[in-house]
Amino acid sequence: MENFDNIENDVHICPKCGQEIPFGSSYYSITRNLEFFCKNTDTNEVEIETEDSEEVISLCKSCGSVFNQTALEIILEHLPIPGHETRN
Ligand SMILES: [Zn+2]
Repeated sequence: MENFDNIENDVHICPKCGQEIPFGSSYYSITRNLEFFCKNTDTNEVEIETEDSEEVISLCKSCGSVFNQTALEIILEHLPIPGHETRN
């Protein structure tokens, strides 16, 4: 569980544009979840359980607005597949 006791006093800077993300304003949080499918034995429905969740980056509303499926596809093209890293 994250501790938000001092969040009002923290200065949050968007790592993309360098602008401050003021307290109280909305922003985009990109998270990485480790999940798995399971079956609820009571309802017999498939559910998704989150085993771990980690915030990867927080972006201001402007910068985060361009982080969409297209941006993710571009990023994925450049991510190495573990065990298949090549040196250029
Ligand atoms: Zn920004």
